[in-house]
Amino acid sequence: MEEIYADLVVIGSGPAGQKAAVQAAKLGKSVILIEKECYPGGASLHSGTIPSKSLREAILNLTDFYKKSFYGKIQKLQQEISINDLNYCLNQVLEEQINHLTRQFEKNKIQIIFGLAHFENDKQVVVVNEKNQLLHFIKGEKIVIATGSKPRNPNNIPFDHEMVLDSTRLLSIDTLPKDMIVLGGGIIGSEYASFFAALGTNVCVVDKRDQMLPLLDKEIGMHLQKALGKIGLSFFGNKEVDEVIRHIKNIEVRFKDGTSMKSELLLYALGRTANIDHLHIENTAITVDSKGYIPVNALFQTVIPHIYAVGDVIGGPCLASTSMEQGRLAARHAFGAETHHFPTFYPIGIYTIPEISSCGYTEEQLRNLGFRYEVGRAYYYEIAKNNIAGNDSGMFKILFHTDTLEILGIHIIGRNATEVVHIGQVAMTFGAKIDYFIDHIFNYPTYAEGYRIAALNGFNKVKHKR
Ligand SMILES: Cc1cc2nc3c(=O)[nH]c(=O)nc-3n(C[C@H](O)[C@H](O)[C@H](O)COP(=O)(O)OP(=O)(O)OC[C@H]3O[C@@H](n4cnc5c(N)ncnc54)[C@H](O)[C@@H]3O)c2cc1C
Repeated sequence: MEEIYADLVVIGSGPAGQKAAVQAAKLGKSVILIEKECYPGGASLHSGTIPSKSLREAILNLTDFYKKSFYGKIQKLQQEISINDLNYCLNQVLEEQINHLTRQFEKNKIQIIFGLAHFENDKQVVVVNEKNQLLHFIKGEKIVIATGSKPRNPNNIPFDHEMVLDSTRLLSIDTLPKDMIVLGGGIIGSEYASFFAALGTNVCVVDKRDQMLPLLDKEIGMHLQKALGKIGLSFFGNKEVDEVIRHIKNIEVRFKDGTSMKSELLLYALGRTANIDHLHIENTAITVDSKGYIPVNALFQTVIPHIYAVGDVIGGPCLASTSMEQGRLAARHAFGAETHHFPTFYPIGIYTIPEISSCGYTEEQLRNLGFRYEVGRAYYYEIAKNNIAGNDSGMFKILFHTDTLEILGIHIIGRNATEVVHIGQVAMTFGAKIDYFIDHIFNYPTYAEGYRIAALNGFNKVKHKR
């Protein structure tokens, strides 16, 4: 079989692989992108970011979620919303996104090959089909591993496609459950738990830690817990799973403290693992770290300098947003284009209902680091746009240096948090001080008014010290 050659060979068509491929093509390089599924897009498009966010949007729309506070309890009953309604919205988004991706690959002359890739050696990648038949030998001057991650499925959990599910299997349920246990209060577990609670399902989230989303600023975490309680979600902390038993009509989870819970459906959301099973990295000098991720340097090079690894396969932060930038930076470095290091500050968006976004330090981190800081707060009820749009609860929290007024952290919970956080991110990146939000004019009424209110609140606390 004839060997094909490309300047760049990318394995995996998720956000990390896509951006590496497009960037290299823009630099005039020939690119081959290999994808083991029969469609491009990765977990992000088919089982992660896009499906979960499309479902969220559909649930908010179909339940008239934001109209409730104005017009009373007009939320449609769960029975009136079917999984077909939700999937209808989701399928439209998927179609749009796949078309867009395909056009982008065509426009940039990126050759996409569908098949499973593995390393023959550190210069050559072999592609086989699902029957393990050889499709191609490909030689790449540079290679980017962007194979992503998959849900962690321990052997002792009786996964199926109806009652014991991970975040991928959850997308194929055919009825909405009346009750549900979510094991894991991390981002994925908390997001799905809040979506189903908003639909009217009785949801219990269980975690061995004492709060959901412990990465959050504590005050924001408390706000979230209260908001989730209002939509009927219960949280049980300090509990570790001992056993999961599938009965005919329900699932039983037994915990190490001797207690147990039963429900119609279980979502197991306790971690993900890197997709390296079929890569045969043992045919190169690359090894994985203790958590199974591929170690890289700050430029995303593995131990073999012409092989890069980006996205979920290298471990945290495991976001589509950060994966894209890693892919782009890797391709720029690979072909000698001007580049920069991965940014220190980037936003994290958590699409629970209500949504959360943050950038920079939490209050706990600042305290531990010994910073002299002050806090400015604005509550959503103080923001005119929020009064107009439906009076949801939420808050802005800005952390800044007491002496220099430099912005150190932005934390927002509430409607539009994942959008408005970027204003704070830009301000931080350009070294703005808290008085920026006081001395400049923002459109009114907007959610961004929260910055101004929070800045005034914080500034008034330090002005006598200045
Ligand atoms: C439920 C859920 C919700 C999420 N929500 C968000 C969110 O709101 N915002 C956000 O930023 N991030 C979110 N994420 C995270 C985001 O989806 C991932 O960080 C992102 O998909 C990682 O991109 P990637 O390119 O590294 O890998 P992936 O998207 O996993 O793509 C990897 C691709 O490589 C392919 N592949 C694997 N092995 C091979 C092989 N040997 N040969 C050929 N192809 C191979 C796979 O089939 C896959 O298509 C979410 C994740 C989940 C699970």
